[in-house]
Amino acid sequence: MRSESLNGVKVFAPVSRNDLIDFAFANHSLLVAVNAEKILHATEQTRSIINRNVGYPDGIGAIMGLKKKGLEDLVKIPGCELWLDIIRGHYRDKTFYLVGASDEVIAQTVKKLQLEFPGIRIVGYRNGYLVDDLDRQALIDDIASKKPNVVFVAMGSPRQELLMEEMQNRHAAVYQGLGGSFDVYTG
Ligand code: UDP
Repeated sequence: MRSESLNGVKVFAPVSRNDLIDFAFANHSLLVAVNAEKILHATEQTRSIINRNVGYPDGIGAIMGLKKKGLEDLVKIPGCELWLDIIRGHYRDKTFYLVGASDEVIAQTVKKLQLEFPGIRIVGYRNGYLVDDLDRQALIDDIASKKPNVVFVAMGSPRQELLMEEMQNRHAAVYQGLGGSFDVYTG
C-alpha cells in the first residue's frame, strides 16, 4: 500500500477498506487513526507511535493532505467503523480479544457483538482500567496465551497505542486502538 509523509507523519493511502484490512492481516499491523489534529499538532510521541505502525486516514484533513501529495485514489476510513468492518469480514475465520472501557460497557459490547455476529469467537475481554504493572503484565500474558488474531483496545490515546505495542511484542496480531468506540457501540 502506498503512503506519504505529512508533516513528518507517515499516513497510508488505502484504495478501499478491504485494502487496509487485507494489508493489516498480511502484516500483523497495529492500526492508528490519523486525522488533521494528529498531523498538524503532532508531538514527538504521537509522530513516532504512528511512524512505527500503520497510520490510516480517519478524517478529511488526512485525505486532503494525501491528495496534495498526488495520491488520488484513496478512501477515508473512520476508526469507529473500521473495527466493525474487520469483524463483519472475519468473524467466521478469526478470533478476537477486546480490552477497554468500564466492566459494564465491555460486557455489553461482547453481548451485542455475539447477537450481531452469531458464532463470533471472542477468546478474552476485560475492562480498560489496569491497576498496576502486575495487572498490565497479566493482560499481556493472557493475550499471548490465547493467541487472538485481532485485538481491539479502547482506552484513549496514546495509552492504548503504548499498551498495544507491548502486546504486539509478545504476540503478533492485528491491533486497532478504538478510543471511545465501545461506549458509542453500546450507546
Ligand atoms: N478508558 C479506559 N482506561 C483508562 C482510561 C479510559 O478504558 O485508563 C476508556 C474509557 O472508559 C472510554 C475510552 O477509554 O471508553 C475513552 O475514550 P476517549 O473518547 O477519551 O478516547 P479518544 O476516542 O478521544 O481517543
